[in-house]
Amino acid sequence: THFGYQTVPEDEKEEKVYEVFENVASKYDLMNDAMSAGVHRLWKDHFIHRMAPVKGTSLIDVAGGTGDIAFRFLNSINQQIKPLVTVCDINQAMLDVGKSRSESLGYLSDVNFIKGNAECLPIENDQFDVFTIAYGIRNCTHIDKVIQEAYRVLKPGGRFMCLEFSDVKNPIIRQLYDSYSFQVIPVMGQVLASDWKSYQYLVESIRQFPNQEDFKQMIKEAGFKMVKYENLTFGVSAIHSGFKL
Ligand code: SAM
Repeated sequence: THFGYQTVPEDEKEEKVYEVFENVASKYDLMNDAMSAGVHRLWKDHFIHRMAPVKGTSLIDVAGGTGDIAFRFLNSINQQIKPLVTVCDINQAMLDVGKSRSESLGYLSDVNFIKGNAECLPIENDQFDVFTIAYGIRNCTHIDKVIQEAYRVLKPGGRFMCLEFSDVKNPIIRQLYDSYSFQVIPVMGQVLASDWKSYQYLVESIRQFPNQEDFKQMIKEAGFKMVKYENLTFGVSAIHSGFKL
């Protein structure tokens, strides 16, 4: 590749990913809107709609970054007393943006921000009804460990839900999507955030992530039941979910 993250050895990936999010943290929300023309908001809204949280649902949002999933979850709960949400992320810069957003949204006391690695969560067994990870798992070095951790921290009956970029099968859409990703996104990264490399990494990490069926298989192998997925916008994103039964 013109960039080289593809050939980064496994033991260096975590550090590289850390640098990427350290660099993009302050521009992260703006860039998401710019690159997806706001569509990431619709995908995230739909993700929460599929979760259909009820009163008392306890949530851990892993690789939660600046809090998009946590805030949508809290917004969707029509109760005076909101359940406490745990947001875990490996990167302090991303968590700091999340914390200041939670303050301005009036959610400071509703979110517990913790720093931790999705591959070995600083959480006891059987704690949550729902485990979410949105656009986070492809940044982790060992996807299988993340899924195992999800299984461990969920209560029996709990649900694993993942929102991630996925595989576009339609050849015409695929071609459009590829030219947009490789030719437009890094340029936008350079213009809006003075950071070509981080956005080039983003595009490459999407192409390396397992496709819908392979990822579904990995979730099943961790012990989850009723595993299924739903494509969003021709598979540009997909929601995978399964239950710990
Ligand atoms: N979930 C948020 C959203 O949907 O906007 C943030 C997604 S952002 C693309 C990916 C996040 O994953 C970053 O905040 C990054 O720090 C975090 N991350 C990467 N590797 C991680 C790991 N091993 N454990 C926990 N978080 C990780």
